[in-house]
Amino acid sequence: MDLNTLTTLVPARHRDDLRALDERVVPLAGGSWLFSEVQDHLTGLVDLMTLHWPSLTVTDEGLEVAATCTLAELAALPDDRGWAAHPLFFQCCTALLGSFKVWNVATVGGNICASLPAGPMTSLFSSLDAEALVWRADGTDERMPVARLVTGNGENALNPGDVLRSLLVPQSSLLARTAYRKIALSPIGRSGTVVVGRVDPDGSFVLTVSGSTVHPEQLRYESVEAATSLRDDVLALTTWFTDPHGAADWRRSVSALLAEEIRSELGDRDDEGAVAR
Ligand SMILES: Cc1cc2nc3c(=O)[nH]c(=O)nc-3n(C[C@H](O)[C@H](O)[C@H](O)COP(=O)(O)OP(=O)(O)OC[C@H]3O[C@@H](n4cnc5c(N)ncnc54)[C@H](O)[C@@H]3O)c2cc1C
Repeated sequence: MDLNTLTTLVPARHRDDLRALDERVVPLAGGSWLFSEVQDHLTGLVDLMTLHWPSLTVTDEGLEVAATCTLAELAALPDDRGWAAHPLFFQCCTALLGSFKVWNVATVGGNICASLPAGPMTSLFSSLDAEALVWRADGTDERMPVARLVTGNGENALNPGDVLRSLLVPQSSLLARTAYRKIALSPIGRSGTVVVGRVDPDGSFVLTVSGSTVHPEQLRYESVEAATSLRDDVLALTTWFTDPHGAADWRRSVSALLAEEIRSELGDRDDEGAVAR
């Protein structure tokens, strides 16, 4: 839709151009959320896409994904480095049920910064224990876990003028075995819950619940956890919420069921194929 209160659009070329940002002048990435709702409080946009950050950069530490990387680019990440976690990138992209047009404009950073509970990029990068590199408005840089960047339904740890620059996925997470489950009330509905399990090369197990909770919740264990205590730990989470995409009690119950499926998929198996513990 037209945003009739806008009077400025700055195509950013350098970090200095981000100084134009404030409460009423905000970053523009793909625009798929910004132009989908009334934004009467805004007077200007600063376009981040004209910064032309490289979308995907492999480093010694892991993978750096620019905030401006589109879902289409991320979904097409080549599987040429032996990363066991590779399927998770495409799987999480499919949790945003937009058309190819949306996939080709919506960005990783726009999705995380919109901070909807059903943000598939929040699910992906929190479950991989990625760090967010934030360019603060005062010119400093700050790194924080993505799981802590998103703090509530539509809320995050960014202040006016701050920009999410990139997501840094550690090598240990890229080498991890992962399992993914998503459920929605209708076949093309917004996620009711997204549950991701990860077993790192050292055997440690992380379960990340999102979509059903107002911010990502993570449970950590030394190894794949026993069924009963994993179920109890999921049910003991307290940040379930209700909206048109699902009731809190349904989200809680189904998350526990999906956690068990993940535990079963990732758990050690004995010679007869039964999951240990
Ligand atoms: C058909 C359709 C289906 C959708 N389904 C889902 C869904 O299932 N789950 C879901 O979460 N969302 C969904 N959305 C909304 C969704 O969040 C966005 O469309 C998309 O992820 C936003 O990305 P964008 O790059 O277009 O962001 P924009 O619309 O450009 O920006 C989104 C917000 O983030 C801010 N922002 C953008 N980039 C940065 C940055 N680098 N640093 C700081 N702030 C920034 C903007 O100022 C704005 O407030 C859907 C949208 C459509 C059209």
